[in-house]
Amino acid sequence: MSNGEDLRVTIFDFIFGCRHERHSFPLTIRGRRRPIAASLTGTYVACLDCGKEFPYDWAEMRVLSAKERRKLITRIHSERRV
Ligand SMILES: [Zn+2]
Repeated sequence: MSNGEDLRVTIFDFIFGCRHERHSFPLTIRGRRRPIAASLTGTYVACLDCGKEFPYDWAEMRVLSAKERRKLITRIHSERRV
């Protein structure tokens, strides 16, 4: 079993997203075990068609763009490496 591999796949999905447009109501997660999507902003939405999760910005009332997600992921990764 390779967790590193799983993480890469998740992040790939994350950056490129999915083609569906129906998302759940934004969910805010507090606590230690957050989905990756929620670890970026604390809030995420799930795709109602394929179940993928995307970080959601409450302040902007929208899902983060691919560019924003990439930036946040890069930041999280550099923090975790320390
Ligand atoms: Zn989808």
